[in-house]
Amino acid sequence: VPHFTIDGLKATVEGKEILKGLNLTIKGGEVHAIMGPNGTGKSTLASALMGHPKYEVTEGTVTLNGEDVLEMATDERARAGLFLAMQYPSEIAGVTNADFLRSAINARREEGSEISLIKFIRQMEAKMKELEINPEFMHRYLNEGFSGGEKKRNEILQMVMLDPSIVILDEIDSGLDIDALRIVAAGVNAMRSEDRGFLIITHYQRLLNYITPDYVHVMMQGRIVKSGGPELAQRLENEGYDWVKEELGIVD
Ligand code: ADP
Ligand code: MG
Ligand code: MG
Repeated sequence: VPHFTIDGLKATVEGKEILKGLNLTIKGGEVHAIMGPNGTGKSTLASALMGHPKYEVTEGTVTLNGEDVLEMATDERARAGLFLAMQYPSEIAGVTNADFLRSAINARREEGSEISLIKFIRQMEAKMKELEINPEFMHRYLNEGFSGGEKKRNEILQMVMLDPSIVILDEIDSGLDIDALRIVAAGVNAMRSEDRGFLIITHYQRLLNYITPDYVHVMMQGRIVKSGGPELAQRLENEGYDWVKEELGIVD
């Protein structure tokens, strides 16, 4: 069972401190949601966890099963089992969706046990069908000319194919219509298991109607300031964030 721990994480972007001592532990079988106002550092957290070069970690530790994640390069983090779906997925010219996925899957495997091309294509076709992704997308360049919704579904395809142990989804719901949201949520729910933990970052409660979290955390000013269960998300939806600020005496 995976065990992912963030302890006292501080990070800067272009010299400005955005994460100011963030603590969170995610174990296999758990779904955690982080909600928070815009500009509070949610995407910065996701980027720092994946080792994006623009985000400099200045303090704290991140471990996966006791191993130091911050010491790993981005591809090593992926190999260790971390998966991150970005708020703004990037396009990669000249690399098809299929190429990208097959090399990502093989990078996670031991040398000599690479997935066969036939098996890979069969798996990819089956999963694309489940996620209602047009079969043409297999041979399209990664994210190039994909609509917002297509990019998000494609990220879920990557997640399903890569079988990660810790999944971080940053605003996977943004720009999705209700049908696409249902498909994405079903993809996530089907992946819930003891062998996997989830961190769902979202600005809106709507997504959490489809993916019920075990824990909901409120992030403000670069920290988790309050934690609870799904009822906390509901209250934020109904009442906004001001009551949290008042309760905790946060001034912005
Ligand atoms: P959220 O995802 O909660 O809306 P972000 O992590 O995107 O918040 O942003 C937090 C703060 O960090 C904002 O003030 C934002 O302007 C700043 N920031 C984030 N990423 C960058 C970047 N790549 N370059 C400059 N500033 C950034
Ligand atoms: Mg934002
Ligand atoms: Mg964001």
